[in-house]
Amino acid sequence: MLNSSTPRLWAIQEVMRRQDRSVPYLQAGNSRPISAIFGENTFSTAVMQDKLPKAVYEKLQDTIRRGQKLDRSIADVVAHAVKEWALEKHVTHFCHWFQPMTGLTAEKHDSFLTFGEHGVPIERFSGGQLIQGEPDASSFPSGGMRTTFEARGYTAWDPSSPIFIVEGTNGRTLCVPSVFISYHGEALDKKTPLLRSMRALNDAALKVLRLFGNATAFRVVPTVGPEQEYFLIDRAFAALRPDLLSTGRTLIGARPPKGQQLEDHYFGSIKSRVQAFMVESEYELYKLGIPVKTRHNEVAPSQFECAPIFEEANVAADHNQMVMEIMRQVARRHDFTLLLHEKPFEGINGSGKHNNWSMMDSDGKNLLEPGKSPRENLQFLVFLCATLRAVHQRAGVLRAAIASSGNDHRLGANEAPPAIISVYLGDQLNRILDAIEKNVDDVRDSEERLIRLGLSNLPDVQQDYTDRNRTSPFAFTGNKFEFRAVGSSAAVALPMMVLNAAVSEALEDVRARIQQQMEMGQPLESAVMGIVRGLITETKAIRFEGNNYTDEWVAEAERRGLLNLRRTPEALAQFVTPEAIGMLTKTGSLTEQEVRARYYVYVERYLKDIDIEVETLLDLARTHVLPAAMQHQMLLAQSLDAVVRAKGSGPGPQYAYLDACIEEINRLTERIELLEGLWRELSGTEERERATRYAYDVVPSMHAVRQSCDRLETMVADTLWPLPKYPEMLFLS
Ligand code: ADP
Ligand code: MG
Repeated sequence: MLNSSTPRLWAIQEVMRRQDRSVPYLQAGNSRPISAIFGENTFSTAVMQDKLPKAVYEKLQDTIRRGQKLDRSIADVVAHAVKEWALEKHVTHFCHWFQPMTGLTAEKHDSFLTFGEHGVPIERFSGGQLIQGEPDASSFPSGGMRTTFEARGYTAWDPSSPIFIVEGTNGRTLCVPSVFISYHGEALDKKTPLLRSMRALNDAALKVLRLFGNATAFRVVPTVGPEQEYFLIDRAFAALRPDLLSTGRTLIGARPPKGQQLEDHYFGSIKSRVQAFMVESEYELYKLGIPVKTRHNEVAPSQFECAPIFEEANVAADHNQMVMEIMRQVARRHDFTLLLHEKPFEGINGSGKHNNWSMMDSDGKNLLEPGKSPRENLQFLVFLCATLRAVHQRAGVLRAAIASSGNDHRLGANEAPPAIISVYLGDQLNRILDAIEKNVDDVRDSEERLIRLGLSNLPDVQQDYTDRNRTSPFAFTGNKFEFRAVGSSAAVALPMMVLNAAVSEALEDVRARIQQQMEMGQPLESAVMGIVRGLITETKAIRFEGNNYTDEWVAEAERRGLLNLRRTPEALAQFVTPEAIGMLTKTGSLTEQEVRARYYVYVERYLKDIDIEVETLLDLARTHVLPAAMQHQMLLAQSLDAVVRAKGSGPGPQYAYLDACIEEINRLTERIELLEGLWRELSGTEERERATRYAYDVVPSMHAVRQSCDRLETMVADTLWPLPKYPEMLFLS
């Protein structure tokens, strides 16, 4: 029997007693196929068809398919149908569900209750309530866009994302996905700019399709499939770690002798307790119409991944927020704590969120998929090269869009892509692009030349990505790009907005160049080939096929003039360069004021993250580590004293343990004081300056404190150590 005199040993006992939790829906004996469960809590197309008059149904479908504004005149009818459906499902409340700039989602519930004639209580949900809400905006970050006398903010229904019902243990709520804007129409959220960038991309891409003679497609949407990595730690351990509770990562903790070096976790068999969690979260997600598809163990112990089938960007962004939230809730039911932080454990792989991204037209054609004919592949090349141009030209603001205090621990840490943005294309495509670049002969026999360049058919491209480069931050994987540098806790709306905007800008530019050539009398093929060749040359610096983790690449990237933005403050500054502001405003994604507001919000967020970490670390070091270390020191001193008294002579080599312990306690004490002094000294500094000092002085100073704590962890008697250690958190959970 373990001695449970310390909380840590109590936690270990708790964990040892855990049983797998059975998943209710598998137990019921009526387990239905996924297809029957899928979307049952959404106001889906099938439900709409069933509940709405035909004309209204068609109007609403058209609004959704074309990404247009809702016709106000159908709002009351739709609201009524939504309410009837919700009441059948025992829903009592509704809310507008939105994504303020906190990176989380927000909701304020109202009940359907109203009083009808003669004070009779009834359930009511009007068109007005469906399409607009008015939460008090004053408690959400606005980056200074909202002065207090204009504290009002509005939420407005986004019909392109399905309405859904959240089932709580005690009550059900109807959630209406919404945008969140200020009184003057400024975007206060992450969804509004994403929708605007999608419009820009749609317009630009359609014009390119028309150039290629496509007359049928009426819409182009960016598609996104975010692969979500996460850790699961037993709740009893998390409860004893103030750092996990307040910051989502361990601020101290000695590395375990066994980490991930045996490489035995990746794709390993899934522990049944974890599988129970996965099955139950998937069940919850299916009901919400979220197409989670894959699940597996990740590289690090206790690390996992799930990935959905891709959807259009806006819906995918909403769904990823729901995935994170649902997993958090279900984890609790299974006595796990879900860790979405980018680096919960030092020395162990961190977590990312690979954002698979492509463009699809309303005929269902993936615009980044190589085709069967030279003509199709010419079009493919235009979309490919426009993306290259976007990443090349807008690498800075793309980097800004993935900056966070958490991602700083990951990017460039030899396990995740570096802070340098580059693009990997794979052998096959590289060879084709190189051939096109070198081919300068005249362009009359265009069809034949396309064939000679390997453009008749690019069948191997999709196979080629199997040996893909896992070190690249932005990799082409056969028929889509994978933006791999996004952090695991990030809301994908922001990086996807920037990517859409940058690509739409590039597409506009490329189309204009092609059209100019055509106006000068060139046929389409040769005009395109000429422009594509130019783009290949122009964007060459961004292409990198080698190992992104090496120091040689850092040096090479510098020679190529690529940005290496190592920390959040310098990355965020890329939002407000004239070029970035120009791109974001030109595409109508954000106004200059909205860009500046976001910059301000994100800098502030960075500062707050670090503030919380510093305070938590100081507290941990003073109230957990030092007392345990001092107790250990006292035990050593007392026992050595006893030896001296008993033997009448010095105790010999054991003294070294006491000396080392005293020395490390002194060092830790000094480091604590240094950190606190530095942090307090910076408190009055201007925010941008403070952010830089945090990144380059405070974070290293925190690291010094950590090192002393971690050394003490390896010295202090195991039974005295109050905090759960890495091995048990990672291997016992
Ligand atoms: P890989 O093994 O290359 O990562 P998967 O087929 O497993 O490829 O896909 C990974 C993720 O990419 C999934 O979420 C998937 O839905 C998504 N994905 C596939 N095709 C596209 C696309 N055209 N656009 C966006 N995401 C896509
Ligand atoms: Mg992948």
